[in-house]
Amino acid sequence: MFENLQDKLDRAFKVLKGQGSISEINVAETVKEIRKALLDADVNYKTAKTFTDEVREKALGQNVLTSVSPGQLLTKIMNDELASLMGGTVTELELKGNPTVILIAGLNGAGKTTFSGKLANYLKDKKNKKPLLVAGDVYRPAAVDQLQILGEQVGVPVYANLESKDPVAIAMEGIAEAKRNGNNVVIIDTAGRLAIDEALMNEISAVKVATQPQEILFVVDSMTGQDAVNTAKAFNDRLDYTGVVLTKLDGDTRGGAALSIKSVVNKPIKFIGTGEKMEALDVFYPDRMASRILGMGDVISLVERAQQQFDEKEAAELQKKIRKNKFDFNDFQSQIQQIKKMGNMKDLMGMIPGAGKALKDVEIEDDAFKPIEAIIQSMTPYERENPDIISQPRRQRIANGSGTDLQEVNKLMKQFNDMKKVMKQFSNPAAAAKLMKNMP
Ligand code: GDP
Repeated sequence: MFENLQDKLDRAFKVLKGQGSISEINVAETVKEIRKALLDADVNYKTAKTFTDEVREKALGQNVLTSVSPGQLLTKIMNDELASLMGGTVTELELKGNPTVILIAGLNGAGKTTFSGKLANYLKDKKNKKPLLVAGDVYRPAAVDQLQILGEQVGVPVYANLESKDPVAIAMEGIAEAKRNGNNVVIIDTAGRLAIDEALMNEISAVKVATQPQEILFVVDSMTGQDAVNTAKAFNDRLDYTGVVLTKLDGDTRGGAALSIKSVVNKPIKFIGTGEKMEALDVFYPDRMASRILGMGDVISLVERAQQQFDEKEAAELQKKIRKNKFDFNDFQSQIQQIKKMGNMKDLMGMIPGAGKALKDVEIEDDAFKPIEAIIQSMTPYERENPDIISQPRRQRIANGSGTDLQEVNKLMKQFNDMKKVMKQFSNPAAAAKLMKNMP
């Protein structure tokens, strides 16, 4: 995400990089470049102007510090300003009320149904809630099916009533159902609508009045740039929602919507969607996003995602197996699954400082693991549990079965054995200490 903007800001900073000190002239030049970068990123004109005026003022007001270069100083100022532009600090969901009611609104195709599924998944797994999804789109039966499929996928019940054409009645029935079944959060997915469609806007207002939601989340496709900001404003004027969800940020190279929405609408961005999978949802942290845009990486998010996927019990089991030298191809495969669950590979790599830019033009395929998985799948269960018996003829058979070649199978076997050796060494504290001592 945001590759274009990153590139342009990088160029803007170059002006200052070679300079020994901050002066009226070099700041003016840099600020001009920053403004150009923001406008190219499809940031609202007024927002870009106010933003750069502020940056200029802060830069010129700084005392000269000998320990940092003007470029570094400006990066810091930009980081703080970008974060505050996007809302400053994180705004958590209001989860009061029993049940908490969350109403989802937005245009057709914005990603409402997908987000409803992701949110249910997030609340269940990360917040220990018992959500109920309510299918409130009375115009597209396919939308009801879609929600039911997602509900099943994430293990959250879905309330639907295909007989009814009244979204208010369906929403109220859903809340009653939640109370009966002990669901403490109700997520109401609704039909897509335009802010200028009087009848449909009245309809969702009626749902709001009847259900008294704690949260009304406006879902919008970030790739639509300034249109997203305009729609956000129009919906807010009618619905006075509590927060914004920016979807499809994985495909957004410019970032205009993310940067302008807060300042134009004055409602916080609460979540971002970064892919089609149910796990591809992140709480929006303006400060971390700022450092990511500036290419400073986002180690915190990376660590958090890794922690979320980390299962303590499973890890202990794995440790035991490694110690006994019993790590096999089944374990190897489940490690790959875990990495894949963390999300899009390129996105993950982008969170590592310095890697974002370096990887910009590198094609990292999400299915980089495909041949490895094919090879493992072509092994018999006995071979997977006993990698040592995989002889040359067996390797040839595996290569044929997986559509790879003997060389690739040999390479994987070698990598697997090397990895096993290193892991074994690290699972024994004394040996690990010795290994460390020998390191340069
Ligand atoms: P709705 O009409 O607002 O309910 O939109 P949907 O939930 O049906 O989503 C429309 C399309 O966008 C679907 O193909 C989704 O898979 C896709 N989509 C939703 N969120 C994301 C996202 O964060 N990233 C990507 N790449 N695709 C998304």
